[in-house]
Amino acid sequence: MTSFDQFGLPPQLNAALTRMGYTAPTPIQSKAIPLAMSGKDILGSAQTGSGKTAAFGIPLVAKVMSSPRGGALVMTPTRELASQVIEVVQQLLGKNSPIRAALLIGGDSMGKQMAELRMRPRIIVGTPGRINDHLARGTLMLHDTNFLVLDETDRMLDMGFGIQIEKIVKFLPPVRQTLLFSATIPPEIAKMTQKYLNNPERVSVDNVAKAAPKIQQEILHVSEAEKYNTLLGQLATRTGSVIIFVKTKRGADRLSDRLNKAGQSADTIHGDLHQRKREKVIQGYRDSKFRILVATDIAARGLDIPHIEHVINFDLPQCPEDYIHRIGRTARNGAEGAALNLISPDDGLKWRAIHRLLNPGEAPAHLPGGTGNGGGRGGRSGPRGGNGGGNGGNGGSKYRREGNAGGTGGAAKPRRFGNKGPRRSTTAAA
Ligand code: AMP
Repeated sequence: MTSFDQFGLPPQLNAALTRMGYTAPTPIQSKAIPLAMSGKDILGSAQTGSGKTAAFGIPLVAKVMSSPRGGALVMTPTRELASQVIEVVQQLLGKNSPIRAALLIGGDSMGKQMAELRMRPRIIVGTPGRINDHLARGTLMLHDTNFLVLDETDRMLDMGFGIQIEKIVKFLPPVRQTLLFSATIPPEIAKMTQKYLNNPERVSVDNVAKAAPKIQQEILHVSEAEKYNTLLGQLATRTGSVIIFVKTKRGADRLSDRLNKAGQSADTIHGDLHQRKREKVIQGYRDSKFRILVATDIAARGLDIPHIEHVINFDLPQCPEDYIHRIGRTARNGAEGAALNLISPDDGLKWRAIHRLLNPGEAPAHLPGGTGNGGGRGGRSGPRGGNGGGNGGNGGSKYRREGNAGGTGGAAKPRRFGNKGPRRSTTAAA
């Protein structure tokens, strides 16, 4: 399909798509929309920035628009993702639509949400915890909600929402349409699919999903002690918005403070901040009020800010799948972007796991030379394309020699890899 006209959408929805600048469906939309419009359940996965939100948002809004009864529920793992989904839904509905949508997320005022629910919204978007709170209080009714979307289901399960989801689904009518999206399909998801979906169609883009191809991935080997100065050097050589991922909430606060003191403009987002503060930070970043967002993995998924040009992994993620989600914050929807990884000598295992995920079956590349501060193990496989075997010994001195140690004066030149993007991985980012 090359045009939205062929999906038989209500005219006001086609008008909304034109206003939004969506002229042609993305591949996941071409596959999912006709199936969903015909009433099929869907088990879907799609790569980062693929237009997945509209892939379920368009049929959802079309169904609600076309019938005076029935409603839709979208569950997402994070508040930020829920906020982005409802924004797309509101745009699809259009400003003057009589159909209301409500956002039910934790950290937001219960009173405000209850007032919204009294207006009888037909579309609910939210996170499982708060949706359950409303069900328990009797402020939310779902007996007429016949369209269910579970977004980033693997992430919801990782976050322990499985039981909450089960409770919520019991409130929905058994005859309904269900769309389940998940980057990976581990056995728990397969089980959920059997339980909640009715003979679903499998929809995935590229079959084996991968990170967006236009991300230029780079690495720099540094010691922990050199990381900060290396970062400053790299920030000086780059233009445009940057998101920096770190491991801990406290680490995020600390790094953001240091950067601001060094004359950079940075703010931070992590799970300890109140929802209002989180929203304010995201909005400020979206509006380019500051250049650098320092984040924990809370921002790794879903965050859709087109002007992010660089993702910097100051700390590598704990879980390799999160690497793909993190770097997917740049190069959104066909744009270009760069992902830089600062790899310390202790990161060998993590980097190897990421590499395995991106290039199954291929020998690990670009590993830190040693495991420690001098005298690390030599003889591991070296960077792809050449000097393999034994660049160990002092924790990646090859890169240190390139000038990033001890100052911002000369930024090291990062090593690029996977110019065409990782060839294969078993996961996709939202
Ligand atoms: P998503 O994967 O849903 O986060 O979408 C990624 C980006 O693509 C968002 O900025 C969307 O607004 C944009 N987008 C989604 N579908 C289309 C389309 N058919 N045409 C143009 N842009 C789109």
